[in-house]
Amino acid sequence: MSNPEDPTRSPAYFRSQDPSALHANQALARLQQESLSPVPQNYELWFAYYAQTHLDVVHALDTLSTTRQPITDTLCEGLHQRFLSEAKNNETVRETGARIQATISGMSSSMDAARTATHQYKEALQTAASQLSAPGESEQIRSTLRTVLDNTSDMLAHNQQLEDALAQSSQVMQALERDLEAVRKQSLTDSLTALANRKAFDAEIARLSQQAQADGLGYCMVMMDIDHFKVFNDTYGHQVGDDVLRLVGRTLGQGVRGGDMAARYGGEEFAILLPGTTLPSALKLAERLRATIEGMSLTRRKSGDKLSRITLSGGVAEVVAGETPDALVARADAALYLAKSRGRNRIEVHAGGR
Ligand code: GH3
Ligand code: MG
Ligand code: MG
Repeated sequence: MSNPEDPTRSPAYFRSQDPSALHANQALARLQQESLSPVPQNYELWFAYYAQTHLDVVHALDTLSTTRQPITDTLCEGLHQRFLSEAKNNETVRETGARIQATISGMSSSMDAARTATHQYKEALQTAASQLSAPGESEQIRSTLRTVLDNTSDMLAHNQQLEDALAQSSQVMQALERDLEAVRKQSLTDSLTALANRKAFDAEIARLSQQAQADGLGYCMVMMDIDHFKVFNDTYGHQVGDDVLRLVGRTLGQGVRGGDMAARYGGEEFAILLPGTTLPSALKLAERLRATIEGMSLTRRKSGDKLSRITLSGGVAEVVAGETPDALVARADAALYLAKSRGRNRIEVHAGGR
């Protein structure tokens, strides 16, 4: 290389006026400042931060900075996975679905066009044949025409085969599209409880937050956590613990209305989103769910032995104007921990704003 300058210090591109060059510089400088590895994921994450292409990335990294948490490679990898890789995967699934749809409709319209053209051609030939079949016309012409007609019939039969084959591929593609939709659903579902998973919860609360800003429709959230679940697992084993998680999941899922979302937030924590619901109604619902779980008598599936009672603690909060999803979750969490500290098996409300 004959470049007189040190390319790692100031490559020409990074000195341009392009705003992305500025963001690239800022990202690289920050990697160095935080002693992060200069791997593509870290670069992409910090580029997204400075270019503000993903506001959730900006928010997450700002929160880390303001709370003075050490920013490590592992942490960045987690954020990249959560905000950039998964977003990309979703985008790919959506795009593939759209492409398949376009291919199917493109194929069926060309099939229609081909069929119409062939039929018109055959009709034209038949008309010509009937005109030529008058007595006195040359036998030679008639026989040539018959051959052409036979060939046309063959062609139609071939076209039919082609059409059948295309119809079959179209069915395969439709099945593929259904599979793709199933994969998309699966990526948003918790496999143990079949409730919405954390990713689906994050997407829904982001949507509700945007909607609240756009048209002022408020919402509440409830954070619930099974009490002393570690002891339960230690006493009865993980599999019985899993059965309880399924039962709690089913109870919460069935206990909310269509537009609400009950999600498994993680481990033995569940979160509920209640659009258009006021704080008193949300509290009433959380209280009802808590009481339902408390009232259940559990038995071991195999032996029928009685198991100890399961209880939930919960925290409820209602979004305030301009509040971020993270801030609302933190307030519901704070209320949950108040419920824990006040003796568990109870619901507390976080009344104030931030
Ligand atoms: P607290 O009342 O303070 O919430 O106490 P806890 O024991 O419920 O809380 P802790 O955070 O100490 O323990 C949570 C337990 O939840 C530990 C873990 O064994 C259990 N758990 C988390 N995820 C699962 C799971 O998928 N299956 C099972 N069986 N248990 C789980
Ligand atoms: Mg917990
Ligand atoms: Mg717990």
